[in-house]
Amino acid sequence: MPLHSCLLAAIDTYERDRDTRRVFPTQDTLHQLNALPQHLPTNPTDLTTILDTLATTIAPATVLTTSGRYFGFVTGGSLPAATAANILATTWDQNAALSLMSPAATHLETIALNWIAQLLHIPATAAGTFVTGATMANFTGMVAARHKLLKDKGHNAELDGLFNAPAFPVVVGDEVHATVYKALAMLGLGRNRVIKVPTNSQGAMDPAHFPTLGEPALVCLQAGNVNTGALDSPQLIDLAKQFNSWVHVDGAFGLWSPHAKYTHADSWATDGHKWLNVPYDSGIAFVKNPADLTGALAVTASYLNSDGAIEPIQKSPDSSRRARGIDAWAALLSLGEQGVRDMIETCCQHARTFASELNNKGVHILNEVNLNQVLAALDTEEKTTQWIDAIQQEGTCWAGSTIWRGRRAMRISVSSHATTQIDVERSIEVMLRSIPSS
Ligand SMILES: *Cc1c(COP(=O)(O)O)cnc(C)c1O
Repeated sequence: MPLHSCLLAAIDTYERDRDTRRVFPTQDTLHQLNALPQHLPTNPTDLTTILDTLATTIAPATVLTTSGRYFGFVTGGSLPAATAANILATTWDQNAALSLMSPAATHLETIALNWIAQLLHIPATAAGTFVTGATMANFTGMVAARHKLLKDKGHNAELDGLFNAPAFPVVVGDEVHATVYKALAMLGLGRNRVIKVPTNSQGAMDPAHFPTLGEPALVCLQAGNVNTGALDSPQLIDLAKQFNSWVHVDGAFGLWSPHAKYTHADSWATDGHKWLNVPYDSGIAFVKNPADLTGALAVTASYLNSDGAIEPIQKSPDSSRRARGIDAWAALLSLGEQGVRDMIETCCQHARTFASELNNKGVHILNEVNLNQVLAALDTEEKTTQWIDAIQQEGTCWAGSTIWRGRRAMRISVSSHATTQIDVERSIEVMLRSIPSS
């Protein structure tokens, strides 16, 4: 078979098996991976053999995150248009660092960023950039914050580093995502010196406990707690702004909530590979004042010349990059504004169905289900653990385990366009059947 037919056949087979396959591979399937050569072969391997190995050994060992019954972590599927665009963009192998390297990629990225800003209530004048995920999007928003806060104190962090820089406070909620700490560590702002604001029962920052800062700070809000889906109140932006703070919003998935309106923030981070349902890796950062972003990330080199528009390389922590905007553009075009809103709402609806059906049968629901996340638990820690194991073993669906406020829970995240009412019903049926009897 010619190469392209082999490739398409492999894609077709994978897609066709999607509804009948287990969502998590069996141990036996995973053991097959051990049969792959461990040592770099001396001689070449032909392409058809490689494709055959991918199709027969690797594909069955994948976690079926494109299934409508995968509810692990916060994992979007991939819309057909986004997958197709991604495959074509890979074929084209465009470098999205500079418009001269790929006018088409830069053009589509700009359009996609404008559309995403519009959907997320971010000002059209903000500068946006595609990065690998929300971790780097948080880094990107906060590196612009670092630039601006230190510049206002007369310090140039980019030229002079941080060793003699004046300090500024960093404020987070005590339910801040672990990767925000990682971004703070990479930024030289430190994990330990943050001021942690207590959160309410749902994990959202409590405005009543917001500190009186007395000076400009970096305040990091969260839109979408990974366990409960709770959103920090946008009212916190006004509290933070009293002292001219920079407000960054980590909205990896929660920024897509219809209730997320953080227009007055200074920077925003979100994921494309979660709720927008584009393939990995895709994160997006926006900064209200483009000069703060380019101030932090611009590069100069003799071979770069720009006609005035901000080049991707001037606003991204990366230089060479894949053309992520192409996938996002195709996803957005395929759904339209209403389609995106419907996809989000359908996921939330499915989450409510999980919560009510499980609760009707005596399962405890530990969170208020206002978004796409459901925390479910049985009477004891031990039973809940057994229950999650049994569901994962059964294979029809997959949901992970978490600890919420000291209590073990199963976390069901409905983030995929592929999830249908039938998927939800089949999964609920398996979940109820898997409840340990004693
Ligand atoms: C997923 C998530 C992140 C990290 O996103 P990556 O895409 O994995 O880098 C950060 N913050 C929140 C709230 C998240 O849900």
